[in-house]
Amino acid sequence: MKYALITGASRGIGRAVALSLAEQYSIIINYHSNSECAQDVKQLIEEKGGHAELLPFDVADPKAIEAAIDSWEAAHPDEFISVLVNNAGIRRDNVMFMMSEDDWHSVLDTNMNGFFYITRRLLKHMMPRRHGGRIINMASLSGLKGMPGQVNYSAAKAALIGATKALAQEVAPRNITVNAVAPGFIQTDMTKELPEDELKRLIPVGRFGKAEEVAAVVTFLASDAAAYVTGEVINVNGGLYT
Ligand code: NAP
Repeated sequence: MKYALITGASRGIGRAVALSLAEQYSIIINYHSNSECAQDVKQLIEEKGGHAELLPFDVADPKAIEAAIDSWEAAHPDEFISVLVNNAGIRRDNVMFMMSEDDWHSVLDTNMNGFFYITRRLLKHMMPRRHGGRIINMASLSGLKGMPGQVNYSAAKAALIGATKALAQEVAPRNITVNAVAPGFIQTDMTKELPEDELKRLIPVGRFGKAEEVAAVVTFLASDAAAYVTGEVINVNGGLYT
């Protein structure tokens, strides 16, 4: 059985990605604390005839990641994680001169260092097996354009884009592709407090996107059809270009 591990799969975009990839893969649902929502995603996948398991850990905690993946590997000695979607993310917005050190570090720890910890561990799983693999990183329009009030988040997402391009070149000889998806405004818990009516006037398509519309691009990048696409950043933003 081939597995796909999606971080932050209990809600929002990660949930939509888990439901979409479940048509082709066994799903490993990572989340931080919201076990009720994670359990709902598992149940939905199973109701549709798919297979899913829960693997909670904090992506910002390298020891927790090591322990979780070690125990998963011990329980699945003949199985292989071929897709990693680095989706878990948080935002803690503020203008920079008012930003606390905690808001700076927590956003970089989750959105950027989380990518490093989990991807390094999964590369140790993928590289020796020589089955190839897919790594898909959830960046953001903020990482390309820079958004006022989000210096921490924009810095983390821009770093993720640079890391995507560098790592793509490192692991291409092992048939592992590394790409980023950069959503604009997507309707999830993360954006529910934003003034949607005001902001949607800035978007050429005239609305916020749906999590499923991001998941469709991730599903393509995870597919065999995308074997020659690597080091790319694909915008899903309704035409809201930089
Ligand atoms: P969301 O609805 O707030 O969901 C966040 C998910 O990440 C939840 O499953 C949450 O788990 C998980 N998570 C948060 N911190 C974590 C941690 N330290 N360890 C493990 N899991 C953690 O967010 P979303 O809108 O779907 O965003 C998903 C990704 O897309 C993020 O990287 C975000 O930056 C990016 N993005 C979103 C938008 C947008 O408009 N929504 C735009 C551009 C980029 P719990 O349920 O356990 O809390």
